[in-house]
Amino acid sequence: MHPRPSEADTGETTTPETAPSNFIRDIILDDLKTNKYGGRVHTRFPPEPNGYLHIGHAKSIQLNFGLAREFGGKCNLRFDDTNPSREETEYVDSIIEDVKWLGGDWENRLFYASDYFGQLYEWAVQLIKAGQAYVCDLTPEQVRQQRGTLTEAGQESPYRGRSVEDNLDLFARMKAGEFPDGARTLRAKIDMASPNLNLRDPIIYRISHAEHHRTGKQWCIYPMYDFAHGESDSIESITHSICTLEFEDHRPLYDWYLEQLGIYHPRQIEFDRLNLTYTLLSKRKLLTLVQNKLVQGWDDPRMPTISGLRRRGYTPEAIRNFCRRVGVSKTNGTTELGLLEYFLREDLNKRAARVMAVLRPLRLVIDNYPEGQIGQEVEQMDAVNNPEDESMGSRKVPFSRVLYIEQDDFREDPPKQYFRLAPGREVRLRYGYFVTCRSVLKDASGRVTEIHCTYDPATRGGNAPDGRKVKSTIHWVSAEHAIDAEVRLYDTLFTREDPNQVDEGQEFTANLNPQSLEVLSGAKLEPSLRGAAAGSSFQFERLGYFSVDPDTKPDKLVFNRTVALRDTWAKIEKKSEKTSK
Ligand code: ATP
Ligand code: MG
Repeated sequence: MHPRPSEADTGETTTPETAPSNFIRDIILDDLKTNKYGGRVHTRFPPEPNGYLHIGHAKSIQLNFGLAREFGGKCNLRFDDTNPSREETEYVDSIIEDVKWLGGDWENRLFYASDYFGQLYEWAVQLIKAGQAYVCDLTPEQVRQQRGTLTEAGQESPYRGRSVEDNLDLFARMKAGEFPDGARTLRAKIDMASPNLNLRDPIIYRISHAEHHRTGKQWCIYPMYDFAHGESDSIESITHSICTLEFEDHRPLYDWYLEQLGIYHPRQIEFDRLNLTYTLLSKRKLLTLVQNKLVQGWDDPRMPTISGLRRRGYTPEAIRNFCRRVGVSKTNGTTELGLLEYFLREDLNKRAARVMAVLRPLRLVIDNYPEGQIGQEVEQMDAVNNPEDESMGSRKVPFSRVLYIEQDDFREDPPKQYFRLAPGREVRLRYGYFVTCRSVLKDASGRVTEIHCTYDPATRGGNAPDGRKVKSTIHWVSAEHAIDAEVRLYDTLFTREDPNQVDEGQEFTANLNPQSLEVLSGAKLEPSLRGAAAGSSFQFERLGYFSVDPDTKPDKLVFNRTVALRDTWAKIEKKSEKTSK
């Protein structure tokens, strides 16, 4: 038995009664009613190992594995590795890791289309014998040129009338390696005047003397996607072959091959691709970013790849909840990135422990706080780990005479509606005391370097016995106890909502956001974070959710900001900007 990851721990117990309705489920429910596949539900997730998986793939994973789980069926993981030159084992390994992480469970059904090369070849021979395929001496380029257009029929190949014997002989010689790349193809004999271009004698096999990541030099002819895919589905007894909308026009060809061969016939169903604002979901373009070192790798936290999202601090649950909410339809659209972030915050809010961290430190000295006999006087303040979840308990946070607060939390000249610390003003230090700013120190350039306060010992824990109120609560860390960290802040990788929209003569890379990464190397954290493990997530109070990056060393913690909290102050500032215009 393989454990079923993440079913128990997420409460993901969708049953046919509770699952959100969609048209694919309706088809399956119908097929179950009519007993079309003997009550079976068997799907597959078929990535091509030519890049890392991205959030769009997560939607397909959620759908295929989710439907199988919901109906007590099965879902296979199948590598669509029919294209030898573009595929690498690095991609295979990363895909396996990512599907697992997202909760996909293929049990012992991990397959490769390349496992079927022998059977696919036999079936191609069968088509030749039935007079439904021929060897064509045009190059793939010429085949494309003679295919015609939507309004014009294609030209029939001069090799279309070859005898079965000649075709069998030539196809065997293609396989034996007698011809160079591109010299010949095997084509289906369908209809060069079909209104569907995919049915105009499509290529079934092409010659490529490239080395394959699994079959090595064994083959020098490779099946095209449309042939390999449906036939692989048939071999694996898939019931519902779910793919994205761009394959809708390929469905007649999918069906044609299976009908001609007279083999088990799964049903292809198409759904809409996921698109996200400010995000590119094309492996080819993501590869460009990696190869040109425009990001730091496939798992750069700014990338929409599953490995990038994981490193950034996304949870599988957040991604799955997002995919479920997005659902499926028959028309392509674009989803707001904000919706993904909404589900991320929802999930992290429940699981992330709260801590205090100061990203851009400003020294705050409490002049009337006791100095202590030997060294600094220290108090241990009680702090709640997660107000959403009592079972997460509480911790002690050291408080002392010299603290760090956020530079942003002090203004010498506060604008209207700015309620945080300012000269003469009293605020609450979270879990600490009320403090009042008495004076500031500045450097030669006039920048504030230190603020001096007094505290009210009667306000320990954050409440005044006389009932007086303060308008703001700010976070802090004790300077003597703080640990150092590097914190990486991220913004969207692209500045345009649609990164594919470019000005004339420009590439999509022109839309890259030069400010997508900001590194703060002098952050100060409360000491409870010492030794935090890579991958663990925290809410830095008032700042957002942060996760420990694998770059972390024992003497230097590195955090990624996963997502900011909704910043109410930024909103106020924007509003007042607008009204003052
Ligand atoms: P890309 O265009 O990014 O290279 P692809 O479709 O070529 O993607 P595959 O490896 O062939 O990538 O995809 C595996 C499965 O994931 C396919 O069934 C495909 O339809 C699905 N898929 C890919 N991108 C998306 C997306 N943006 N939204 C939903 N499903 C997707
Ligand atoms: Mg593809």
